[in-house]
Amino acid sequence: MEDGDDQPPDEPADVPVRKIIHVDMDAFYASVEQRDDPALRGKPVAVGGSSRRGVVAAASYEARKFGVRSAMPSITAKRQCPDLIFVPPRFEVYREVSHRIRAIFRDYADEVEPLSLDEAYLDVSADKAGLGSATAAAKLIRQRIRAETGLTASAGVSYNKFIAKLASDQNKPDGITIIPPGKGAAFVQTLSIRRFHGIGPVTAAKMEGLGIFSGADLAGKEPLWLTENFGNSAEWLYNLARGIDHRRVRSNRPLKSLGGERTFFNDLITDTEIREALAHVCTVVWDRAAKKGARGRTVTLKLRYADFRTITRAKSVAAPILDGNSLLAAGEAILAPLLPTEQGIRLLGVTLSKFEGEEDDDDEGTAAPADLLSLI
Ligand SMILES: [Mg+2]
Repeated sequence: MEDGDDQPPDEPADVPVRKIIHVDMDAFYASVEQRDDPALRGKPVAVGGSSRRGVVAAASYEARKFGVRSAMPSITAKRQCPDLIFVPPRFEVYREVSHRIRAIFRDYADEVEPLSLDEAYLDVSADKAGLGSATAAAKLIRQRIRAETGLTASAGVSYNKFIAKLASDQNKPDGITIIPPGKGAAFVQTLSIRRFHGIGPVTAAKMEGLGIFSGADLAGKEPLWLTENFGNSAEWLYNLARGIDHRRVRSNRPLKSLGGERTFFNDLITDTEIREALAHVCTVVWDRAAKKGARGRTVTLKLRYADFRTITRAKSVAAPILDGNSLLAAGEAILAPLLPTEQGIRLLGVTLSKFEGEEDDDDEGTAAPADLLSLI
C-alpha cells in the first residue's frame, strides 16, 4: 500500500551520504525445504508443482546448475534436470522465517523496506545498533540470520539502494559485497544491464538491440540519445549508469486504520443534523481511503455526547468497501439504532479498518498508531 504522503520525498543530490544494506536470503524457499528435510540437502530441489501446468517458485543451487530457474514451467525444469525433486510450497513456514529476519533487521535500522518475504533494504545511516559502520551491521545481521534461522543470506552494502541490491547479488550465495562511495560508478559499469533491478527483459532486449550490453555501454550514451530512445526513463537510466540513485528506503508500516472525526461548536440534537455530520465525515474519510487505495471491511462509529460519555460501535461487511456511498451506508446502519438521541452530540468520528492484505501484516506488536485525521 502506498504510504507516500507520510514520508518525505526522495532526497536531492546534496544530502550526506547514506548507508544502505540490501539483504537477500539465498534460494529462500528451497533453502527452507532443505533445512527442514535432510534428505533434500545437496540435491536439486524445486519448490512448486510438478504437474503439467506447474511452475517453479524457487530452485536450490544444485538445481540452478542445470539451468532451473524460478518462474520456469515445471515441465521444462524436469527436462533440464531429470533428477529434480519437486516440493510443494509451505508459505506459512516461509512467512514465519520472514518475520524472524525482519525482527533482526529492526535491531539495526528503523527504516526497513521489504521487497518480498526474503529480501529488504535497510537504511543504517543512523547506526541504530552503535556498531560504527554499515559493514559491521551487515556482518552481524548475516551471522544472526544464520544462527536464528539456520539459513544463509547475502548482503550488499553501499550508499544507495540500486548499488546495494546489485552488490548483494555479487557474491551469492552466503556472500557480502561492499561498494563504498566513489566506487559505485565503476562497479555498475562492469555489469551487464541484465542485472539492473528495474530494467526488465523487454527493455534489456531493446537496449541490446541498440548496442547497450553493460553499464559502461549505457554510460557512453548522451542524455539526448537516451531521451529519444527511452523517453521518460532517460534521466533515470543516465543516473543508474553513473551509480546515482536518490530513492529513499521506505518503511511502509501497514495501515491499521484510517479515519476522521469532527467536534462541533454546538452539540447536534436532531437526527437530520447528525446524519449530515456523518455524511460529511464519511466523505473526508473516503477521500483519504481512496488516495491510499485502502479497501477496508470494518467501519467504526464514535460518538461523544454532551456529558463526554463516548461510545464506539463497529460493523463489518462481507466485501471490502469500494466507494463513499458504501461507507456512508455502513455508517448509517450503525447510527440508526442510536437515534433519536436524548443528549446532544459533540463529536462524531468514523474509522475504516480490516484492510485487504492485512493478514500479510508482518509488523505485529509494533502496530502503527491509528492514522487519525483530525477535522476539528
Ligand atoms: Mg533471495
